Amino acid sequence: MFEMLVPRLRVNTVFDIDLEDLYRKGYRGIITDLDNTLVGAKAPLATPELLVWFDKVKQLGFKLVIVSNNNMDRVSKFATPLNIEFVHGARKPSNAPFHRAMKLMEIGPDSTIVVGDQMLTDVYGGNRLGLYTVLVLPISPKDEGFGTRINRRVERIALTRLRKQGLWHEEESKE
Ligand SMILES: [Mg+2]
Repeated sequence: MFEMLVPRLRVNTVFDIDLEDLYRKGYRGIITDLDNTLVGAKAPLATPELLVWFDKVKQLGFKLVIVSNNNMDRVSKFATPLNIEFVHGARKPSNAPFHRAMKLMEIGPDSTIVVGDQMLTDVYGGNRLGLYTVLVLPISPKDEGFGTRINRRVERIALTRLRKQGLWHEEESKE
């Protein structure tokens, strides 16, 4: 079970993802988390830098869907002005929201990337379906809610175990 928490790639922020490289490798769809992945958990709107990133994603030919465990109000206020499709109240790591997002994009699991800041929801959910998982550092950990704080504790326990087993390397994982 712990191996399923290991992402395929680790980066500091979404801006550090080599999108051109992933496109060349055949990936066409991005399922991204919202809170603490794209913006801080309490930041309602996209930053100018993120708008440029969304443009780049689109221009390269990727489809993108936001999949968030947060509620309709939060996710819709962020995504609707940007014309980005979303799945709210997702209950990640359950399979359903990932399937729903892939259906929206009309892209299969072999061509889908999952980006998120949590091993227990984003990475675990994505790995179980065989998606290419990318873990980012949380943008604003101090704004995390109670449930996420519990998840972080489990993450720390899992990290200790994974390091002991040699499954988690300190340098960024590369293909
Ligand atoms: Mg998150």
